[in-house]
Amino acid sequence: MLYDVSRDFIIKTIGEIFSIDSPSGYCKDVIKKIEELVSEIGYKTELNRKGNCIIEVDGKDNSYCVGLCAHVDTLGAMVRSINSDGTLRFTSIGGNILNTLDGEYCKIYSRSGKVFTGTILSTSPAIHVFKDARDKERSEENMCVRLDEKVRKKEDTEKLGIMAGDFIAVDPKTQITKNDFIKSRYIDDKGGTTCVLSLLELLKREIIKPNYKLKIIISTYEEVGHGSSNIPQDIDELIAVDMGCIGDDLSCTEYDVSICPKDSSGPYDYDITTKLIQLAKKYNLNYAVDIYPQYGSDVSAALRAGNNIKGGLIGPGVHASHGMERTHYEGLENTIKLLTAYVTE
Ligand SMILES: [Zn+2]
Repeated sequence: MLYDVSRDFIIKTIGEIFSIDSPSGYCKDVIKKIEELVSEIGYKTELNRKGNCIIEVDGKDNSYCVGLCAHVDTLGAMVRSINSDGTLRFTSIGGNILNTLDGEYCKIYSRSGKVFTGTILSTSPAIHVFKDARDKERSEENMCVRLDEKVRKKEDTEKLGIMAGDFIAVDPKTQITKNDFIKSRYIDDKGGTTCVLSLLELLKREIIKPNYKLKIIISTYEEVGHGSSNIPQDIDELIAVDMGCIGDDLSCTEYDVSICPKDSSGPYDYDITTKLIQLAKKYNLNYAVDIYPQYGSDVSAALRAGNNIKGGLIGPGVHASHGMERTHYEGLENTIKLLTAYVTE
């Protein structure tokens, strides 16, 4: 059967986790928040060595284990070097669309613990000065971070304690509109993370035991390819709850849960995918079944790492992924409903 999804919980969770900077490799703050949220719901958490958060839920039959993974790490950047004028040269973390970063506000997390603000810009940023301001390719070598500090030369920036290896996080600019659009960077995959946390909240509130033991993994290195490379060995099947693709010949919208039978890493498990489609039909959910042409998930990472599992992939439809993303409350709602149906039927 279907259960009511808690709107309050979803909105609260978006408010709490979307605003915490978490580029891949710098997820300690967001994972701490996840641990707090999960313990408020009433479940225990454990961390693996690289900092993924794992939550176990007792099932009716604990001889089989269903895993669900969502990643809380995001794209970002890292300081590569300091330019002679005191601006920062950066290296991308994950698959950024650099054009969309031009003009974005960011924060620099120095290893001394100080946090600085700045703006990502082209190295020809002023139309009144540079002939190529419009046309200059937005590439790592043609972009920099302008610090909000009185720096004129490299040494000034060094004195602040900023150095190569400092993390750069881009402002996600999260907004929820009156008509329930969620506009933000990094809905991939804080949207999916919100969905699996909402499933936990629902199971606890309705006092439901899933059919099988459930292990939820909130992973931290997905955007760089190895989020769920290591998973608890009792997991028999793993479903990635990650963003659904929108565009070109794909049928998904921001209001749907997307079910993916195949991405760039190959086909997902036949039986899992079929069951997901059947449940979406049975409960009249808004859903789409789409091939993702340029995509790999945490399940792909787990399979490549040699885990003895079968895998699936679902998630809310996300428009303009890895750019200024947008989804809709209904996309999250349909995803949570499908997850609930999957683990209880
Ligand atoms: Zn993702």
